[in-house]
Amino acid sequence: MKYFSLQTPSHTASFKEAVIQGIAPDKGLYYPDHIPVLSPSFFNQIEKMSPVEIGMEVMHPFIEGVLSKGELRKVLEGVLDFEFPVIPLNEHMASLELFHGPTLAFKDVGARFMAQCLGLFSEEKQANVTVLVATSGDTGGAVANGFLGVAGVNVVILYPSGKVSPIQEKQLTTLGQNIQALEVSGSFDDCQAMVKTAFLDQEITQHKQLTSANSINVARWLPQMLYYFLAYKQLKPQLDASGKDLIFSVPSGNFGNICAGMVAREMGLPVKHFIAATNTNKVVPNFMETGTYLPKKSVATISNAMDVGDPSNFVRILEMQQHSLAQLKKGFSSYSFSDAQTKKAMKEILKKYAYTADPHGAVGYLGLESYQKEHKNTYGVFLETAHPVKFLEVVEETLGQTLTIPQKIVEVLSKQKKATKINDYQGLKAFLLS
Ligand SMILES: *Cc1c(COP(=O)(O)O)cnc(C)c1O
Repeated sequence: MKYFSLQTPSHTASFKEAVIQGIAPDKGLYYPDHIPVLSPSFFNQIEKMSPVEIGMEVMHPFIEGVLSKGELRKVLEGVLDFEFPVIPLNEHMASLELFHGPTLAFKDVGARFMAQCLGLFSEEKQANVTVLVATSGDTGGAVANGFLGVAGVNVVILYPSGKVSPIQEKQLTTLGQNIQALEVSGSFDDCQAMVKTAFLDQEITQHKQLTSANSINVARWLPQMLYYFLAYKQLKPQLDASGKDLIFSVPSGNFGNICAGMVAREMGLPVKHFIAATNTNKVVPNFMETGTYLPKKSVATISNAMDVGDPSNFVRILEMQQHSLAQLKKGFSSYSFSDAQTKKAMKEILKKYAYTADPHGAVGYLGLESYQKEHKNTYGVFLETAHPVKFLEVVEETLGQTLTIPQKIVEVLSKQKKATKINDYQGLKAFLLS
């Protein structure tokens, strides 16, 4: 498998090169040169397969020639050691819980997969790689945890001072070892701008191999396909019996997760429709209506992991659909919801189904509900992308209930914060060169 740059299709890279660079030299996103189709026998046997066996079949074509089967198996064993349960709410709707990983965020799978791959690559090269990442909250914790102790890889995380939740801050700043946190006096956008500047700064890149760990990196993006296969494995008997069409509603920000699900469908996974549910950052719902893609400055919402004004992975979705809006519409819809609607949905889900959803999951639920109103013979799954305690204040206030803090979080809250304060780009540069 080769990957090509969506900016300059003649520029190609191996999986390894694409992972180490993060983004192509021309700033294009890497995209696989073909999407393999899995055999019918794989889908017939999926119920009997373990998550690691499923992961082997799905991921092998994408890493072939770079990782051996033995290496891939080891990577997957390290990644898939927690549950991805489908929780039915009624006879035509379920929640797919992706928050049972070490940092209670769905980003754990991609972050761990990428960390393991980069660890293997830097072992061979005997060289150091620095992962530089800006976070508005959830990414940092998952990346910090995934990369902790990986030899040959240093991680530098920038976060906006006072703008991440106390739990998130502790998850970023208490690990030590190869993980360093920079507390930036500024906004998330400032952090991201500094990271982008560093990638272009030759005084830094001459000395350090920098890479990114957000969903533009193929090693973080592609393994998210596994969620959809693992959900299908659990639902197959009842889908076969009911004859209903499987649909997914994905709370979306940078559109990496839903794009991975759509790759899974290209590989043969029987999914009838994808719904991208967004908050009021609605560049994609607008595009579906008007055909014009107009990036906007992001606005703050209660589902803040989706506060994205220019979703980086949407170009991959367009590429997959041959840049045809008509073709995209056949299997993809997108809806936007306000904070007021999100809170109302959280209350409704609790009252009707005795289920506690976080704001992101609630946006996914709303997307599903909108679509199912007009498409009755469907079985809908919304992705619950974060544990409700990660958004403790808003969940407790909206639902009027006190949440129990899981043990993993209690432990991290008692640890000592360690972060270096920086004020501007010069601060970052001095840090990286020291
Ligand atoms: C990152 C994140 C999302 C959005 O995922 P994308 O792949 O960026 O669309 C949704 N929910 C939560 C909780 C997240 O952390």
